Amino acid sequence: MAVAHSMQRIAPHTWTFEGPAIPFAPMKAHCRFCRAQVALLRPEAISIQTGNYIVKGECERCGGEVVLIVS
Ligand SMILES: [Zn+2]
Repeated sequence: MAVAHSMQRIAPHTWTFEGPAIPFAPMKAHCRFCRAQVALLRPEAISIQTGNYIVKGECERCGGEVVLIVS
């Protein structure tokens, strides 16, 4: 039986389970739905133009699409 890589025994009766961590961008972006600065979940670079990265992700609060331009 295969042991899931994400489950680790850290003490005789203590296990830690690390689920698939949701990656998030280290910077905050403005969500137009929440009208607030929010963390960007599952960031994905969608294009690079004129030296800027355009990153698309999900709002941590509402899950809406948030686009961030990183220069
Ligand atoms: Zn939002």
